[in-house]
Order: sequence, then structure tokens, then C-alpha cells
Amino acid sequence: MLIREMTRQECLDLVAENHIARLGCTRDGQPYIVPIQYALAANRLYSFSMPGQKIDWMRANPRVCVQVDTGTDRQNWRSVVIHGRYQELPDTKQWHRERMNAWSLLEQRINWWEPGGLKPGEQPVAGTSPHLFFEIEIDDVTGRAASAG
Ligand SMILES: Cc1cc2nc3c(=O)[nH]c(=O)nc-3n(C[C@H](O)[C@H](O)[C@H](O)COP(=O)(O)OP(=O)(O)OC[C@H]3O[C@@H](n4cnc5c(N)ncnc54)[C@H](O)[C@@H]3O)c2cc1C
Repeated sequence: MLIREMTRQECLDLVAENHIARLGCTRDGQPYIVPIQYALAANRLYSFSMPGQKIDWMRANPRVCVQVDTGTDRQNWRSVVIHGRYQELPDTKQWHRERMNAWSLLEQRINWWEPGGLKPGEQPVAGTSPHLFFEIEIDDVTGRAASAG
């Protein structure tokens, strides 16, 4: 098996072709990783969520790591690691354009809101939903590709 470094463009292409990533955040030295759905545009990943642990942690420490991979087997795979910064996109005038951008990109997938919008157990009935949009601005990206050689 051969492993090579991927170019930045190859990394971004792989991220653009996929829509599920693992998002890692940390608080007080404790890592926390969960799968999320995202959309890529320019230098940003956009996602949708309900409030919860990962949002609390990223608010406290916006430095995050995101990993995306594809692979047919152990000898043929590509994997990308992104270091970036969390930015919430609140429903305010300042963030309106970015929020709408996130929404329009994410809604291109059917039932796009389901994985981020549902939690276990019965949820209280409320007049408004506390859902939120956020983005990860990419600081750096690296990738490795393996082939059977
Ligand atoms: C394919 C896929 C796509 C997803 N897309 C999104 C998305 O776009 N946006 C989004 O917000 N969520 C998405 N999810 C769900 C996500 O992985 C989390 O489960 C969810 O966001 C809740 O995270 P939280 O930090 O708010 O957890 P909370 O509800 O605050 O619960 C915290 C605790 O629950 C446990 N927990 C939470 N999530 C998981 C998990 N996935 N696996 C195991 N234990 C868990 C942990 O022990 C954690 O300490 C997706 C999941 C999958 C499998």
C-alpha cells in the first residue's frame, strides 16, 4: 500500500463531494467528537444543530477539528483533516446573509434538518424552535490518500 499527501485542492474536492464529517471539539482538555452533516462553500463548512453539548463546548472554545473520509477498503482510502474556528450564525442583521447562505446550501439535501434537528426522547412543545446554524472557517487542511500500489 502507498500513502501520499493530498494537495489542498484535492482535500477541498473531497470535502465538497461528501456531506458527513466528524466534528471534534474540546473543553477543559476533554475531547468530544460527533458526526455532523455539512455543506462546503469557499473556505467554510456550514451546518445546522439544536443546542446541546457540542454547541456549548464550541462556544467556550471555538477551535475545532473536522475529519472527512472516503474509502472502499483498508488499502484504498482518502482522509482529510481540517483545523478551523466555530462561528455561530445568529438570526441577526449582522449575520443574516451568512445564515441564509448556510440554509440555502444545506436545504439542497432532502430531510437536511433531521439529523441535527432531532434529539432522543420527547421534546417539549414550544412556539419557536431553538435551532441554530453555524459555520467552521477553515484555517488549514491536510489530506492523505492510500492506494494498493
Ligand atoms: C450521519 C449523521 C449526521 C448528523 N448530522 C448532524 C448535524 O448536521 N447536526 C447536528 O447537530 N447533529 C447531527 N447528527 C447528530 C450528532 O451526531 C449528535 O448526536 C447531535 O448533534 C447531538 O449532539 P449534542 O452535542 O447536542 O448532544 P447532547 O444532546 O447535548 O447530548 C450529549 C451527550 O449525548 C451523547 N451523544 C450525543 N450525540 C451522540 C452521538 N452521535 N453518538 C453517541 N453519543 C452521543 C454523548 O455522550 C454526549 O455527551 C448527525 C448524526 C449522524 C449519525
